[in-house]
Amino acid sequence: MCVRNLSKQYSQRRPLNGEKFIIHALKNVNLTIARGATLAIIGESGAGKSTLARCLALLEEPTQGEIHFEGSNLLTLGRKNLIPIRRRIQLIFQDPASALNPRFTAEEIIAEPMLVQGLSTKTQRRQRVSELFDEVGLPAQCGQKRPSEFSGGQRQRLAIARALALRPALLILDEALSHLDVANQQLIVQLLADLQSAHSLTYLHISHDVRMVSKFADEIAVMHDGAIVELRPATQLRAHPAHFPTGELVRATPALTSVRQGRFPRQAP
Ligand code: ADP
Ligand code: MG
Repeated sequence: MCVRNLSKQYSQRRPLNGEKFIIHALKNVNLTIARGATLAIIGESGAGKSTLARCLALLEEPTQGEIHFEGSNLLTLGRKNLIPIRRRIQLIFQDPASALNPRFTAEEIIAEPMLVQGLSTKTQRRQRVSELFDEVGLPAQCGQKRPSEFSGGQRQRLAIARALALRPALLILDEALSHLDVANQQLIVQLLADLQSAHSLTYLHISHDVRMVSKFADEIAVMHDGAIVELRPATQLRAHPAHFPTGELVRATPALTSVRQGRFPRQAP
């Protein structure tokens, strides 16, 4: 995927005086992710990460710019031509508990995208569901359970299985590991790596934890105030861990200032 000069503005009104104002949530974002590679995006809350995720997953229309994917500029394609593309780009959210229908069983949750897209017969859907259970490491006997009966890590596996149902090429993970403890994070990171090599998946992995993403990303982009202010190969960060911020990244202004000047912040606030 290749993104050129992507901008997104929201128009809002001040609740008291009704005055209109514009929020520049994305400002001229440029990025390229090679097929099968992982780009991590980090940045403080409000930086525009989720807006970028929603625009790239075609859940929101950017104000301006280009999104090139599998040979087309998606923003110039008509609604009908976008249908097959939507399958190829899947978004996984931070909190699968709120993204998964609580009334559906695990099997139904995974089968739903296939049914909605009008793909496959009942038997084929069942077959694919059981394949996906296996691929994400969920025990087959969990099929009748509902999302609330799963642990956090298992729920995230379920969300991943659902995202994979339509054989996407690009997975966008928006803080998808943030609510998990370190042990579960590691397990899911391993699962994502296995899936990536099995299916040549491309990942856009949004996080506020530079340490975690530096372990598996190819490149790390830092977002601040709607813009990408730094883009580096993760190998640089792995080679110089002393330059890492020590905890959750890029909260304080001083750290961000150094990012803008082209240096990675040395210490977390
Ligand atoms: P992040 O995911 O990095 O925390 P977001 O993309 O959620 O950042 O938000 C970026 C900016 O855009 C914030 O200032 C946020 O308030 C604003 N924003 C996001 N979504 C909307 C919306 N639907 N309407 C108005 N403003 C929004
Ligand atoms: Mg967000």
